[in-house]
Amino acid sequence: MTYQHRHADGAPCTLPVGKVVCVGRNYAEHAKELNNPVPAEPILFIKPRTALVPMEQPVAVPRGQGACHFETEMAVLIGAALKDADEAQARAAIAGLGLGLDLTLRDVQDGLKAKGLPWEKAKAFDGACPLSVFVAPDRVANLQDVRIRLLVNGGTRQDGNTADMLTPVLPLLCYMSTYFTLEPGDVVMTGTPRGVGPLVAGDKLQVVLGEDLLTVNTIAV
Ligand code: ZN
Repeated sequence: MTYQHRHADGAPCTLPVGKVVCVGRNYAEHAKELNNPVPAEPILFIKPRTALVPMEQPVAVPRGQGACHFETEMAVLIGAALKDADEAQARAAIAGLGLGLDLTLRDVQDGLKAKGLPWEKAKAFDGACPLSVFVAPDRVANLQDVRIRLLVNGGTRQDGNTADMLTPVLPLLCYMSTYFTLEPGDVVMTGTPRGVGPLVAGDKLQVVLGEDLLTVNTIAV
């Protein structure tokens, strides 16, 4: 099925569906849990729009590719073009805030990293980016004080807060926009807190943004 961006209030979303620009290791505790150094500057990568699927639909775990890890992240929907942006422009361009899963074929990624090769096969495959609906940005008073949680089969696996980002949202958008023009309908994934782990077919997932801003229940298949 074709993916479309959706507003949480049900209002039609006229934005096209663009690319997804992601940041790796934007939370120090997550970098440590994978034995990665904390980066001196943001590590960027891109998922194509063919990676996007609605998070509420069953999340397909690729078969025969080793472990597929969940990484729960705050997702930012871009509503206006950003190129070499300043923070005021970046803030004004945010059209919505939501939840994303940066699905990662961890064994594939480890093999690629060991050889110094790009990560696309591990991060940019079809269905690699389930996205929730987006709430209006004015629902969030402080972009750097948003709780992000993932429960798997009722147990808390990730429980972080955007306060712990190494590069906060607005500087991150600015930094990204020096390399890649962010266009209306693009999505920025802001990194995952600690607690990532393998997704197994049959897992029931509950993903929560803020205390009660947005809750998505879904299942891995
Ligand atoms: Zn990630």
